[in-house]
Amino acid sequence: MHKLARLDKKYVWHPFTQMRDWAKRESIVLARGKGAVLEDVHEKKFLDANASIWTNLHGHNHPKLNAALQRQLKKVAHTSALGFANEPAALLAERLVKSAKGSLKKVFFSDDGSTALEVALKMSYEFTRRTGRSRAPKFLSLAGAYHGDTVGAVSVGHIDLFHKAYGGLLFKSDKVMAPYCYRCPFNRAKPERADARVTRKCNWECVGKVEAKLKPRKYAAFVVEPRVQGAAGMIAHPEGWLKRVGEAVRASGAQLIADEVMTGFGRTGTKFACQKEKVSPDFLCVAKGLTGGYLPMAATLTTQAVFDEFLGEYDEFKTFFHGHSYTGNQLGSAAALASLDILQSADSKKKRRTLEKLLRDELQALWSLASVGDVRQEGLVAGVELVADWRTRKAFPLKAQVGIRVCEAMARRGVLTRPIGNVIPLLPPYCTTSAQLRKMVRVLREAITEELGGAPV
Ligand SMILES: *Cc1c(COP(=O)(O)O)cnc(C)c1O
Repeated sequence: MHKLARLDKKYVWHPFTQMRDWAKRESIVLARGKGAVLEDVHEKKFLDANASIWTNLHGHNHPKLNAALQRQLKKVAHTSALGFANEPAALLAERLVKSAKGSLKKVFFSDDGSTALEVALKMSYEFTRRTGRSRAPKFLSLAGAYHGDTVGAVSVGHIDLFHKAYGGLLFKSDKVMAPYCYRCPFNRAKPERADARVTRKCNWECVGKVEAKLKPRKYAAFVVEPRVQGAAGMIAHPEGWLKRVGEAVRASGAQLIADEVMTGFGRTGTKFACQKEKVSPDFLCVAKGLTGGYLPMAATLTTQAVFDEFLGEYDEFKTFFHGHSYTGNQLGSAAALASLDILQSADSKKKRRTLEKLLRDELQALWSLASVGDVRQEGLVAGVELVADWRTRKAFPLKAQVGIRVCEAMARRGVLTRPIGNVIPLLPPYCTTSAQLRKMVRVLREAITEELGGAPV
């Protein structure tokens, strides 16, 4: 075993990992990266097929991002936003507001997706109380929602496996049905296309459920991952769901918190996923891809109305009493500015469109495998759901570790991704070449065949 793998096993406690299994397995120690390729300490090369847990946009070791960081390093790495402004954070805030369009006018920086959500939740809660809409406002979010791992973010999350244990620690929030067309209890066809495997027409029962929940008008906000629920299993929502739900939220007087931590910055095709359905949220939370996948940094964008509600005389104490030591970090902001430059270039836009289409074409080959139940894609986010029986959609039991086994078989073939239960996500960095993308899908197919058999249906 490599010396670093040994040190890691001895001292590091890994996130979302059964450490007893980790101790038994050979770990991959990553040392270098270039574009979509990562290299371990034995100089074995891997494709980064989930963009280092959905963070990386333009590839590793990008010359423009590196140069931006080096320029910033020659000035200063970090100064506090508590009491002081700085150049890259001010420039970045302007850029974010301009990119978000609509009514989002103010930017509150923090460190990661979870903190971006905490900020939105606190602001929305306090806004709702101060404007007199409710004295004890609550939040509504979707079944399978994932908004981060801090206690507030977990309170609006609804993945029992992660969240149940901490139930006693959380504030109460409500849950409503999510549009998960593959497992729709009404057995309707996916609304935007006639799916061969389900035939009955969709009447948007899932939107009706949200409307019914919103009726009592008791919510501060509806919290949603627009267009795709990531940690729920890369569940792409049907076209039109977000628009309808956005209108229902608006009509109820509640605010809309868009968690674009995964979907932001071109992942789903448009800069932000909300823009695909022309939905204008009251809060936009971004993190993962904000710095192109270089540094931990997040932002919560909100409206002038929310901002104004926190204005007052000093001794009215209307201040937003919240902040983190690294808020508005200069290095992170410099990386984010460079990342946005690349993202907005005509070259990157064209590349993303080409990749999206290629991914769609390549994924078709997976439908013929018996253990593939669903193949979902939204922009450059794909999820392949493995099932024990495609006819009945029967799930594999989690303890069979089907997703883990398939991903390990992929790693042996030089492609890295991390399963979500029985779903295998593919989120290629935008710099991925056509050959690299084909390899990602081919290896996924081979790994499924190796672990679960290839009998075509
Ligand atoms: C990853 C993620 C978060 C949490 O972000 P962290 O940076 O891991 O705290 C929140 N919401 C969504 C949709 C995410 O994908």
